[in-house]
Amino acid sequence: MSFRIGSGIDFHQLGEGRPLMLGGVHVPHNKGCIGYSDADVLLHAICDALLGALALGDIGVHFPDTDPRFKGIDSKKLLDETCHLVAAEGYRVINIDSSLCLQEPKIKPYVPQMQETIARIAGLTVRDVSIKATTTEGLGFVGRKEGVVAYASALLQRI
Ligand code: MG
Repeated sequence: MSFRIGSGIDFHQLGEGRPLMLGGVHVPHNKGCIGYSDADVLLHAICDALLGALALGDIGVHFPDTDPRFKGIDSKKLLDETCHLVAAEGYRVINIDSSLCLQEPKIKPYVPQMQETIARIAGLTVRDVSIKATTTEGLGFVGRKEGVVAYASALLQRI
């Protein structure tokens, strides 16, 4: 049996007048992540973990922010395309683990919906999609509510 592991990280600045998209779910808040796409920091980290597991480069290689096709794109589509790349390489996803670092808002009520959304796209059960969250206890740019960080790991198995 052949396994591959990957990790991903993403950062986005927070700004007013943007919807906050996290894990494919709209989280009501007075700020949202700024970016070329819908700036879903969690889905971007997961895409990078999946791509990294197969040494396929990163999300910027596959979905460049210079390509108008990706302007304002729903990052669920990027995750879906990434999962198709994984399948095309002859692998399936075993599980995904992730962490979100943000000072506010509290995302716990939205985590089940995020798990369901990611699981549906990646062909997993919700038990295979872990989403954890932490503040930075007020430290740094996350603590100042200037930005959000997401980390993800993914395990793949050759089909
Ligand atoms: Mg990003």
